[in-house]
Amino acid sequence: NSENQALIYIFGGSGDLAHRKLYPALFNLYRKDHIKHNFAVIGTARRDWSDDYYRDTILKSLTELPGSYNQKIAFTKHFYYQSHDVTDSNHYVTLRQLGDELDQKYHTQGNRVFYMAMAPKFFATIADHIKSEDLLSDQGFNRLVIEKPFGRDYESAKNLNDAISKAFKEEQIYRIDHYLGKEMVLGLLPMRFTNPMFEQVWNKQFIDNIQITLFEALGVEDRAGYYETAGALRDMVQNHVMQILALTTLERPDALNAADIRDKKRLLFQALKPYTPEQVDAKFVRGQYGASDIPEHEPAYRQENNVDPKSPIETFVAGEIDIDNDQWSGVPIYIRTGKRTPEKRTRIDIVFKPSANQIFDQPAAANILTIDVEPSEGVTLQYNGKKVGQTTTPESYLMSYHHSKEMLNEVLDAYERLILDVLVGDNTNFSHWHELEATWQFVDAIRQRWDSQAPTDFPNYKSGTAGPQAADELLAKTGRHWIYQP
Ligand code: NAD
Repeated sequence: NSENQALIYIFGGSGDLAHRKLYPALFNLYRKDHIKHNFAVIGTARRDWSDDYYRDTILKSLTELPGSYNQKIAFTKHFYYQSHDVTDSNHYVTLRQLGDELDQKYHTQGNRVFYMAMAPKFFATIADHIKSEDLLSDQGFNRLVIEKPFGRDYESAKNLNDAISKAFKEEQIYRIDHYLGKEMVLGLLPMRFTNPMFEQVWNKQFIDNIQITLFEALGVEDRAGYYETAGALRDMVQNHVMQILALTTLERPDALNAADIRDKKRLLFQALKPYTPEQVDAKFVRGQYGASDIPEHEPAYRQENNVDPKSPIETFVAGEIDIDNDQWSGVPIYIRTGKRTPEKRTRIDIVFKPSANQIFDQPAAANILTIDVEPSEGVTLQYNGKKVGQTTTPESYLMSYHHSKEMLNEVLDAYERLILDVLVGDNTNFSHWHELEATWQFVDAIRQRWDSQAPTDFPNYKSGTAGPQAADELLAKTGRHWIYQP
């Protein structure tokens, strides 16, 4: 591995994301020599911490990870803390001076990463000050990493994008969608475009429908403050679901590079026409969880801390998305995501049409290709063979391959990969502004319809179940059903 050189500013360095995801990811990159001597991190946040205190909190966040104590200590020595009020220009001058010093000390070649790990309402102000107080380096690279949520509708996303675009060009902006760092999501294009047996049939002639499920077992936990302003549609569909949908259905890119892949994603998203209110009613379903049988352990959403007892916020969404292009017109793409479902699981089911020439005494089942994204990573194909015995009756069998735990152990996890991508300058697995533009417009149409009609049946699914009945009816009305039934 060649060592990456950079100075990383983390805005929100005392926060939850930084400690749960970023420091462990950076340490793993350090353990694996992707960063080594020539990097430094400046963490900033409101609180008045010393470098030592800051390093101590980082050390604690690494407890579960492999690596010796000494190695962890050596790693934390690269970290510096600066208390900072995001609206105070003077503080950025301090940040610049500290950055210049550390740049010299650690030979970071003027390479700078600005990581926004705080509330989105501050992103624009920070970007403004990065520019006005001259934190951008004119020797190495300048890259901005920005967390979700990127806006709460098209308009706010556009405002945010306009604001950060004053300081950073599109190719310098890395909008994190951590699903794009998951092994099997990264594996979609290689799987689709190296197997003629899949590639040739990946279209409306052979595929009946596609089902994308992103289930979480947990409820809202302690994030109600944010969730009450968001809901599942904004929190999961606009970003993660749409990105998975795009990689599952986009046309073959000319080459495997960021420009070509993003270009095909853009075309795909352009083929999603925002729904009319009538279409929203017919094609989208929302749900909110009620209590489980043990309400002390799993209360209803409306009984959770900081949730409005009459909250209209959805914790579950199911829908049919239609792609209006040659490859897919007429093929429903069913999507589902929700909290407090039976288990955490992300998977994609590709349901093929049954064989057109049925010559056997009993009809054969359809082929189904299942791609397991998490918690296990692999693929299962349901195909037909002959039933064992003195018969020619067809029967369904499964062919299955899943990566072993050992194999996955040393693989970079989503945050590690994506941070490494930022350091090497590969923005393939980040969302481009065009993608946000289109997905927000699609989601806004649904949101507007829902906001205009308060739900009357919430809560409409029990904690620990796969969502409201209406989610099953969505498919049942055309004689289909969800392949994944937890
Ligand atoms: P957090 O509340 O734990 O941390 C926020 C940080 O911002 C803290 O370090 C705080 O000190 C700092 N801060 C707040 N106000 C400030 C001010 N006025 N001046 C300077 N510093 C200030 O939040 P978090 O959970 O770490 O989330 C950070 C970002 O990451 C958000 O955009 C969130 O949506 C996103 N995100 C978080 C998670 C997660 O798992 N926590 C997951 C996905 C996305």
